[in-house]
Amino acid sequence: MTAHDPNETFAPSPAFAEQANVGPGEYERAAADRLAFWDEQARRLDWAADWNEVLDWSDAPVAKWFVDGRLNASYNCVDRHVEAGNGDRVAIHWVGEPTDDSRDITYSDLKDEVSRTANYLSSLGLVAGDRVAIYMPLLPETYIAMLACARLGLTHSVVFAGFSSAALRSRVDDASAKVVITADGQFRRGKPAPLKAGVDEALGDSLPSVDGPADSVQKVLVVRRTGIDVDWQDDRDVWWDEVIPGQSAEHTPEAFDSEHPLFLLYTSGTTGKPKGIVHTTGGYLTQASYTHDVVFDHKPGKDVYWCTADVGWVTGHTYGVYGPLSNGATCMVYEGTPNSPNEHRHFEIIEKYGVSIYYAAPTLIRTFMKWGREIPKAHDLSSIRLLGSVGEPINPEAWRWYREHIGGDAVPIVDTWWQTETGAIMISPLPGVAEAKPGSAMRALPGINVSVVNGDAQEVPAEEQGFLVITEPWPAMLRGIWGDMERYRDTYWSRFAEEGYYFAGDGAKFDSDGALWVLGRVDDVMNISGHRISTSEVESALVGHDSVAEAAVVGANDETTGQAIVAFVILRESAPEDTDHHQALIDELRARVSTEISPIAKPRDITIVPELPKTRSGKIMRRLLKDLAEGRDGGDTSTLSDPTIMEQIRAKGTRG
Ligand code: ATP
Ligand code: MG
Repeated sequence: MTAHDPNETFAPSPAFAEQANVGPGEYERAAADRLAFWDEQARRLDWAADWNEVLDWSDAPVAKWFVDGRLNASYNCVDRHVEAGNGDRVAIHWVGEPTDDSRDITYSDLKDEVSRTANYLSSLGLVAGDRVAIYMPLLPETYIAMLACARLGLTHSVVFAGFSSAALRSRVDDASAKVVITADGQFRRGKPAPLKAGVDEALGDSLPSVDGPADSVQKVLVVRRTGIDVDWQDDRDVWWDEVIPGQSAEHTPEAFDSEHPLFLLYTSGTTGKPKGIVHTTGGYLTQASYTHDVVFDHKPGKDVYWCTADVGWVTGHTYGVYGPLSNGATCMVYEGTPNSPNEHRHFEIIEKYGVSIYYAAPTLIRTFMKWGREIPKAHDLSSIRLLGSVGEPINPEAWRWYREHIGGDAVPIVDTWWQTETGAIMISPLPGVAEAKPGSAMRALPGINVSVVNGDAQEVPAEEQGFLVITEPWPAMLRGIWGDMERYRDTYWSRFAEEGYYFAGDGAKFDSDGALWVLGRVDDVMNISGHRISTSEVESALVGHDSVAEAAVVGANDETTGQAIVAFVILRESAPEDTDHHQALIDELRARVSTEISPIAKPRDITIVPELPKTRSGKIMRRLLKDLAEGRDGGDTSTLSDPTIMEQIRAKGTRG
C-alpha cells in the first residue's frame, strides 16, 4: 500500500487540451465582466423575447436573471435540434433492466412524443404554474413527461420511485400537485415490483401520517411497464397508452417568463428534513447548458454521454435531462441497478454503445472497487474520453482507481461540486485546462465566485479549514424553498447576512496551490480534544487500506475527548472473510489513521458492517450513524434507499 503524494497532479494530455471546448482564457474573460459573460452564455439558448437586464438583485436574496426574457425550456431541449436538421440524431439510447429491452429515441421522435403528452395534459385543463408529481423509474416516458410539463409551464416535482408512499404523499401535499404520473410497476433485479400501489396508498387516507385523501390530485396517469395487476379508480386513473398515442404530434410551445418555475426538487435529506427547492427557467437552463458543454467537453453528434444518476435527484435533472438535451446530446439512459443481472452491466453498456463521457457518484465507484478490477477489465472501455464524479468528496484512492481502471489511465476526471440548491455545477476542473489533484474539486467555474471564510466572514489562509460560501449570485441559483421563504433566508443567507454570502453548509479549504478541497458538511466536522478533524479525511485514510471498500465516520459524544471518532467500514470482496481476522484488521486500520493523519484522529471504535445507510443519491446518512453511536433511535429515514439497513447494521456489525 503506497501513500500517495497529495500534491500529485494529472494534466490533460496535449491532444485532449488541443480539442477542448474551452481553454484557460475562459476564466479571465468571465472575470473581466461576469454579467456580460453570463449574458453571452444565455445566448446559447433560443429566446422568444430578449431580456432587459441580466441580473436584478434588488430583492436579494431572491434573484431575477435575464429579466423579462421569454423562452420555452422544452423547445430549447427538443424542437430546435429538429429545426436545425438534427432530428435523426438519437436523443436517448434507453436500456431497460431486462437484458433484451431497449429503445432508441431520436430528437424527432422525442418532439412528437413530448407534443402528444403536452396536448393530453393541456386537455385536462392544466395551466402554466400548476404542479405535476412524477413518480417513475427511468423510462423514456419519464423524460417525455418532464419535457411535456416544461413545454406547458407546468412545474414538475420528480419524486424518486424508490421512496415510500409517505414520502410521495408529503411531496404531493407540499406542492398541491394536480396530476401524478407513474407506472404500474418497475423492474428490480429481474422482478416486477409494484409502483402504482404505492401511489394509491399515498393518495388515500390509510397512511398514519395523513388526514384524509390527497384532495389536490385529479388524475393519475399510468405507464404500463411491467404488466402487473393494479387497482383502478375509473374517475381518477388513466393508462398512458390509452390516451397519449391518439393525440396530435403538433404542439406549438408558448414562451414563458425567464423566472417561471420550471421544477421543484427536494434535497436528499442528509442533514435534516428535505427542503423543496425551487428552480426557474432562463437562468437555470443557461447554466445547465453552459456547464454541460464546458465541464464535460461535450461534442454534439459525436459523444455518447451517460449520466448515471436517477432523475429523482438534481444530477438527473441538470445533467440527465436539461443540460445534455439543451446541447443536442445523445444520452444513455439505463433503467436498472449496476448489478442486474450481474456486475458487468454498466461496462457492457459502455462497450456496446461506445459511451464516451461517464458521470457517476463516488459511492458507485467504490462499489466497483469492491467488486474488483477484473470486471471492468473484461470489457473494451476505450471509447471513454472523460469521467465525472459528483455527490460527495471523492476519496483520492477511488479517484485513482476510477482513472486507472475505467479511464484507461489516461482520461481527465472532473470532480464536480454543487448542490440541489445551486442547480448546476459550481466548482470543477475544466478538463482541458486543469492539472487535477485526486480528491480536489479544484476551482470555481468561470462566472462563479466562491470563498472559504471563518465565522467572521474573513477569508482564511491557505491550508486552513473554513466555511464554503458563494459570494455572488449565479444564474441557476435556487429562488426559494417552496412555501417557506423564511426557511430559505434562514438556511442559506442568515449566517453571512451582512456580506450577502450564500452559506453552502460545507467545510472547505484552499491548499497552497490554490486548489479547493471540499471537506464535507460543516455538521460533520468533528472536534476531538479541541482539534478539528474532517470526516472525509479519516474516511479517505480508511478507504486507502486494501481491504476497505467504504467507510463512514462520525463524531460521537465522549466524556474525555468531547467527541470521539467512530467509524463504520465495509470490506472489499477480496478481504479475508474469516471474522477471526477482523480484530487484527481493525487494529491495523486504527494504526493506519494514526500514521496517515495523526494519533488524535485514531478512531475510538471501528465497526465492520455489511452496508451503510445511504440516500438514493448514494450519500451516506451520517446523522443516523451518529444517532446509533450515541445510543439514540434514528431520525427521519424517509429518503433512505433501503429502510432495513439500520437494522442490519445493528444486528450484523463486528465491532472492535
Ligand atoms: P440536505 O441539504 O437535505 O441535507 P443534501 O445536501 O445531501 O441534502 P444535495 O443537494 O443532493 O442534498 O447534496 C449537496 C451536497 O453534496 C453538497 O453540499 C456537498 O456536501 C455534497 N457534494 C456534492 N458534490 C460534491 C463534490 N464533488 N465534492 C464534495 N462534496 C460534494
Ligand atoms: Mg444540502
